Amino acid sequence: MRRELEMASYSHWCGACRTTSERVRTHAEALEAQAGHRVGAHGGRIPVGERIDLHRTEGWGDADPTERWITVILAAVALLVFAYNVL
Ligand SMILES: [Zn+2]
Repeated sequence: MRRELEMASYSHWCGACRTTSERVRTHAEALEAQAGHRVGAHGGRIPVGERIDLHRTEGWGDADPTERWITVILAAVALLVFAYNVL
């Protein structure tokens, strides 16, 4: 679970101006971006439809199926080479 959190990123989306903030590492940073946007772009008022988006990146679950197979095959080859040299 900790690993998943490290691989996640967050962004703030504003429904009023339809813009997305830069991605940040934590939900708290995204809330800061949201607060900054409210003040900077909307005079401190809360825009309609704003939200914090969670992006999961680089996780095994999001990996391309081909990349997954390449990883499995490389691991198998490495294991075979190891076994051949040792046994
Ligand atoms: Zn806005």
